[in-house]
Amino acid sequence: MKLILLIIIAYLAYRAAKSWVMRNLQAPDQNGPRHPSIDDVMVKDPVCGIYFPQREGVALRRGGQTFLFCSAACRDRFLEEQKGIRS
Ligand SMILES: [Zn+2]
Repeated sequence: MKLILLIIIAYLAYRAAKSWVMRNLQAPDQNGPRHPSIDDVMVKDPVCGIYFPQREGVALRRGGQTFLFCSAACRDRFLEEQKGIRS
């Protein structure tokens, strides 16, 4: 009888922990990307040429186009190169 009680307590603790984890996992989505399905899309950095997950990219809107870079440093380099072309 005592064992069954322990199993029930363990089960309830497991369910509580699971729902707590699920809440914490789902919470960031409210402020995160609107399209979770494209989270794993890999895009190419036009500056250094490496591939990275789209959601982790640094976005830059320019001339109606959105460019994505692996880091702010690459975005800055892209802007520098654009400046060089135009001037
Ligand atoms: Zn880069």
